[in-house]
Amino acid sequence: MPKIIDVHTHTHFAAYKDDMRDVINRALEKDIWLVNVGTQRDTSLGAIKVAEEYKEGVYATIGLHPIHTAESYHDEKELGGGEAAKSFTSRGEEFDADFYVKMAQHEKVVAIGECGLDYYRLDENTKEKQAEVFLEQVEVAHTVNKPLMIHCRNAFPDLIKILEENRNKLIENKAGITHFFTGTPEDAKGLKKLGFYFSFGGVVTFARDYDEAIKEIGLERIVLETDAPYVAPAPFRGKRNEPLYVNYVAEKIAEILSTDVEEVAERTTTNARKILSV
Ligand SMILES: [Zn+2]
Repeated sequence: MPKIIDVHTHTHFAAYKDDMRDVINRALEKDIWLVNVGTQRDTSLGAIKVAEEYKEGVYATIGLHPIHTAESYHDEKELGGGEAAKSFTSRGEEFDADFYVKMAQHEKVVAIGECGLDYYRLDENTKEKQAEVFLEQVEVAHTVNKPLMIHCRNAFPDLIKILEENRNKLIENKAGITHFFTGTPEDAKGLKKLGFYFSFGGVVTFARDYDEAIKEIGLERIVLETDAPYVAPAPFRGKRNEPLYVNYVAEKIAEILSTDVEEVAERTTTNARKILSV
């Protein structure tokens, strides 16, 4: 039985090319389960491949991240430094729905994403493309009856509008997870109504900007993540993150909600198992 589930992590990224299994085993030894999240075709296939190595405790999501729908910033921690990876980020990916549906049917795939909208560093004319590719992934999730793993930055009103228009395609009461929620209380309300849960990661250990949202949302809708290798929690800030550190997130959330860490671990794990069916 898992003690905590890191619902959004990327141990299959290039940042762990030398020690991925050690990193995963460190988490599993502490009864921390994890979900490796795909961001495009190769990292989606990679997430499945890693999950296949473990009988339980390691799962995958498959999807096309909004920033990869067009020319994007190249992140070596994600794709490595090779020429192929660089040429990928300089052109983006054409979404192939059939290919994603096929991957989505794999038994270790627990959600579709990360998909969504990201207006943070973007060229105005990619908005439409992002919306189109997001909608296609809502369709994929509907086809295979799996929840969504959403990435949304500076775009909550547009995202919620798309979801509301496609409400009949979402799974009731477990539509998915909004990863690292940064929206307003109003956005949270809209997403709750649609059946979404909210994950929080290392940022909560060093920034107080999310305390109100965490209190508003409450343990009935919160799940935990690391988003490793990014944003390590306070004691390791600036270093490479890993699923084991989800413990620090649980501790901080317990402090914010004036409860104990066991309660946070238990409730968030129950939520994660329900949404992801693991
Ligand atoms: Zn991520």
